[in-house]
Amino acid sequence: MNQPSSGPGPDTGADLHYSQALAQGQFLIQRCEACSRAVFYPRMVCPHCGSDQLAWQAPSGRGTVYSTTVVRRKPEAGGDYNVALVDLEEGVRLMSRIDGVAPIGVHIGMPVQAKVLVRDNGGLLVFTAREGQA
Ligand SMILES: [Zn+2]
Repeated sequence: MNQPSSGPGPDTGADLHYSQALAQGQFLIQRCEACSRAVFYPRMVCPHCGSDQLAWQAPSGRGTVYSTTVVRRKPEAGGDYNVALVDLEEGVRLMSRIDGVAPIGVHIGMPVQAKVLVRDNGGLLVFTAREGQA
């Protein structure tokens, strides 16, 4: 995890670890061992306290929609889609999309669950509605 980075920024090592796990269907976030706060997007140094003692953990994946936007797209390009900011239970906010729900059907406060879609070119993190808890 502490290999020297050869990319454009200092966060490349953590970023790579994150995308490799995602490509195997595993969603990981970091937690700072110094201040115990969750960290996302992956990085080498805690944004809260500056410590470099960041450990990987699998989050619960349970989250709540903080904001949602419908992005208009022509039907032949795949149709409208949704971009949402989701607050994870662990206390981090991330940008994703809500799958399996019509873009206009996504609402603020909606309970969602993380899901990793594994594709040939890597993993993609999306969220689906958590049934029965709306
Ligand atoms: Zn910290």
